[in-house]
Amino acid sequence: MTTVKGLGAPVAELQKNSVKAYATQGADKPLAPFNLERRKLRPHDVQIEILYCGVCHSDLHTARNEWKGTTYPCVPGHEIVGKVTKIGPEVKNFKEGDTVAVGCLVDSCRTCSSCKENLENYCEVGFVLTYNGIDKHDKTVTYGGYSTQIVVDDHFVLHVPKGFSEKELPGVAPLLCAGITTYSPLRHWKVGKGSKVGVVGLGGLGHMAVKLAHAMGAQVVLFTSSANKTADAKRLGADEVALTKNPQDLKKYANSLDLILNTVSASHNLDTYLELLKRDGTMCMLGAPEHPHPSPTVQNLIFKRRNIAGSIIGGLKETQEMLDFCAKHHITSDIEIIPIQKINEAYERMLKSDVKYRFVIDIASLK
Ligand code: NAP
Ligand code: ZN
Ligand code: ZN
Repeated sequence: MTTVKGLGAPVAELQKNSVKAYATQGADKPLAPFNLERRKLRPHDVQIEILYCGVCHSDLHTARNEWKGTTYPCVPGHEIVGKVTKIGPEVKNFKEGDTVAVGCLVDSCRTCSSCKENLENYCEVGFVLTYNGIDKHDKTVTYGGYSTQIVVDDHFVLHVPKGFSEKELPGVAPLLCAGITTYSPLRHWKVGKGSKVGVVGLGGLGHMAVKLAHAMGAQVVLFTSSANKTADAKRLGADEVALTKNPQDLKKYANSLDLILNTVSASHNLDTYLELLKRDGTMCMLGAPEHPHPSPTVQNLIFKRRNIAGSIIGGLKETQEMLDFCAKHHITSDIEIIPIQKINEAYERMLKSDVKYRFVIDIASLK
C-alpha cells in the first residue's frame, strides 16, 4: 500500500471519511444536502452504513431550535438501523456485516451512579446525544442518522435481533426512540395483566405505546384529537378509543386509569387527563413541547394522591431488552417510507398529525 512520505501511514487511512447527509443551516431553513466528515475509528468504534432512519418529532423540535441550543448545521436522526462496515481493534461484540442499530445516545460518563445502573439516559454528568451533542474527545458537534454512515462507540450500538427479517428493518428503526421511550415507562410502572393504561396522542410514540402496552397484557385506552385514527388505534391494540375533543367521551374514564403515557408534542391542559387517573395513578409525560403546559390544578393531584412524572428514552441494556421483546412479539413500527428529498414535506405533515405512524427515510435515496 502507498504511504505518505515522512508519515509512514497508508494513504487510505489518511483520506477523510466523507459522508453524504441532509442538514439544516438555521431554525427557519429547510433540510438540504450536506457533506460531513466522520471521525477515524477509535479502538472501540463501530462504523455503520446506515440503511434506514426514522423521523422523530424531536428531530423537528431540534432542527427548528424549538428547545433552543441547536448548533447549525444540524443533521438530525436518532432512529438508525444499518450494517457494520468496519470495527476498531478493541471491539468484541460486533463484526463486519452485522445488522445493528443506534438510538438517541452515543456516549455518557460511564462512571456515575446512573451509568453504573445501566441508566445512561439519566447520566449525572450528561450524556452525548446522537445529534446536536458534543463529542467528549474532540469537542465536535455530533451529526445524526440523516446520513449514509455513522461511527459510534460500541457501548452505544445495539444488536438487531435475528428474529427480524431484512424486510422488517425499516419498521425496526423507530423502535430506537419511539419504541424505547414508551417501553421504559411501561416497565418502570410495572404494566401487565390487570393494568389499565391510557395513551394520549397517536403519533410515533403513541402508536408504539399502544402496541407495547397491549403486548404486555394491559387494557389500553387511546386518547386522540384525530377522529380518523379510531380504526387504526383498535387495529394497533387499543381496546377503546376516546376523542379528546368530546368531553362526554373523556368523562367515561374518570378515576379509572393506572398509568397515562402522554405523548402530545404541543402544550395543552393536563387537567383533562389527570382526572382520568385512579387514586395513586401516574401520568408520565413523554412529549416535550416547545412551550410549557399551563400548570395543572393542584386539587386534581391532592385529592387522589395522583402523580405527574416524566421519562426520557431508556438505557442501553433496556433498549436491547426492548428490541428482543419486539422481535419475540413480532412488533415493529407502522411506517411510511420516504426518500430523503421528501423530509421537509414530512415535517409539515408531522405538524398536522398526519403521520401513519412514523416516517422512515430510506437512506439509499441519499447515495
Ligand atoms: P408525533 O409523531 O408528531 O406525534 C404526536 C401526536 O400528538 C400527534 O400525532 C397527535 O396525536 C398529538 N398532537 C400533536 N399536536 C397536538 C395538539 N396541538 N393537540 C393535541 N394533540 C396533538 O410526535 P412523536 O415523535 O411521537 O413525539 C411526541 C413528543 O415526544 C415530541 O414532543 C417529542 O419531542 C417527544 N419525545 C420525547 C422523548 C422522551 O424521551 N421523553 C423521546 C422522543 C420524543 P393525535 O392525532 O392522536 O391527537
Ligand atoms: Zn426521538
Ligand atoms: Zn454517567
